[in-house]
Amino acid sequence: MQHFAYSRVATLADAINAMQQPDAMVIAGGTELLNWMKEGIAAPARLIDVNGIADLAQVTADDRGLRIGALARLSDVAEHPVVRTAYPAIAQALLASASPQIRNMATIGGNLMQRTRCPYFRAEVEVPCNKRRPGSGCAAMSGNDRTAAVLGATAQCIATHPSDLAVALAALDATVHVTGASGPRSIPLVSFYRQPDGTTERETRLDAGELITAIEVPASAVARQSRYLKLRERASYEFALVSVAVGLDVEEGRIRAASIALGGVAPKPWRLCATEDALQRVTLSDEAAVRKTLTADFADATPGRHNGFKVELAKRAVVRALQMAGEGA
Ligand SMILES: Cc1cc2nc3c(=O)[nH]c(=O)nc-3n(C[C@H](O)[C@H](O)[C@H](O)COP(=O)(O)OP(=O)(O)OC[C@H]3O[C@@H](n4cnc5c(N)ncnc54)[C@H](O)[C@@H]3O)c2cc1C
Repeated sequence: MQHFAYSRVATLADAINAMQQPDAMVIAGGTELLNWMKEGIAAPARLIDVNGIADLAQVTADDRGLRIGALARLSDVAEHPVVRTAYPAIAQALLASASPQIRNMATIGGNLMQRTRCPYFRAEVEVPCNKRRPGSGCAAMSGNDRTAAVLGATAQCIATHPSDLAVALAALDATVHVTGASGPRSIPLVSFYRQPDGTTERETRLDAGELITAIEVPASAVARQSRYLKLRERASYEFALVSVAVGLDVEEGRIRAASIALGGVAPKPWRLCATEDALQRVTLSDEAAVRKTLTADFADATPGRHNGFKVELAKRAVVRALQMAGEGA
């Protein structure tokens, strides 16, 4: 690990000022960043510790929606009574993340900024990886692609995004609030992550020197009847092979509105917009009809050599998650 300067700030203004210095990085819970520094994935010259900005740790809710400060800990948000009852997919996604100890330290902002678990990105030896070493290629394409993307991958990168929370937030139409030297702005969660392009190392639309301040989620019938289903190699302390967040509004057994996002299958949380449209007025208990609605969204799937199973697994996960959400009706 190389030497770095450390400073702790108490206000958002001080944080933004400090962030304008070259090679500065924010540290929140440190559960990702410290590992990156040890592994050579990140080498900041300055760490700006924002944990003293108390306002950023607040979670508030009213009739219009939920606001989660970027410094709120995963465990606090998962246990929040309004999150559990009015946005259950968020609580379930958080409780399926990492371990209790990590959830006690890790923050919402840091969770959204975590980087891919692709073994080639995380490799201890130097291998081609456009995210890690821009322009070097993608070893996963000719190597072990078992955990790689089957939707939305490009010729630059086939890595998936690992955040469980981001999938739930994508399904529930969340907005990411950020602020930087030129002031605050808002980015819909579904647009917050970039698909791999010529600048594959840039994974989000956060600009240099900007900070996530809060996440907002609108209150809705769909959010209230939401579910998160995570499928993984082992039952805990593991990232998703496939995950799905669904929200439902059902009237007399027929779907009035549905909202669906997949995790573990794409470089970003993947909304199934065509499926959502096709599900309107479908009878929830008609499994064959529900499954048929998935056809268009998976038409462009591009499975590789070892991850073809993800296509079928994702389809089944969506059907199951919709049934689970429906059982709560
Ligand atoms: C063993 C292990 C298992 C895990 N399993 C899961 C899992 O199953 N599911 C899952 O979703 N996650 C999992 N995680 C990831 C975990 O949730 C993240 O490590 C954690 O959420 C990061 O939050 P943090 O506050 O510690 O971030 P930090 O480590 O402090 O920061 C991470 C990154 O976010 C940036 N950052 C932090 N806060 C902000 C902000 N407000 N604005 C802008 N940038 C910011 C930092 O600069 C850094 O780039 C796992 C992690 C570990 C180590």
